[in-house]
Amino acid sequence: MEDTNEMVLEFDSRSQNEGFVRVAVAAFATQLNPTLEEVADLKTAVSEAVTNVVIHAYREKTGKVRIECSVREKEMTVTVIDYGVGIENIEKAMEPLYTTRPELDRSGMGFAFMEAFMDELEVESQPGQGTTVRMKKKFGIGQRPFA
Ligand code: ATP
Ligand code: MG
Repeated sequence: MEDTNEMVLEFDSRSQNEGFVRVAVAAFATQLNPTLEEVADLKTAVSEAVTNVVIHAYREKTGKVRIECSVREKEMTVTVIDYGVGIENIEKAMEPLYTTRPELDRSGMGFAFMEAFMDELEVESQPGQGTTVRMKKKFGIGQRPFA
């Protein structure tokens, strides 16, 4: 679409990629003149989604992660896609404090943070096929540009 700007990242589900990916998504968001707080919120949400792919979707294996970003007017959509194990019960997985990996010291707060820091959160999953997490956020209510 003419008034939409899109960007795609594809990378391996290795924890050393988490840092670069959240910076890349945050850098793409600068065109919306976000406040520092908005950028921090976006980075947190992206980190949580990517960490979930690294830890849960592919477990001890490594697979591909795809992030599709699009910007339209003042809104950014970030879609995090994996081709891993999938989620059996999405509603339960999204409950705060629910985790299937307590032995790894996970606290079950990832989806709750994504929900809190973004304006919209949508999760689709097929067990054995993978998971798609779509998040939206409106930017630019503040005046301070991100340097
Ligand atoms: P925390 O994020 O606090 O470290 P957590 O990752 O277990 O803990 P959430 O991020 O809220 O908590 O995820 C809840 C549960 O949903 C996970 O324990 C896991 O079972 C499942 N899950 C989340 N993302 C994926 C994914 N991409 N693929 C497969 N399962 C997932
Ligand atoms: Mg998590």
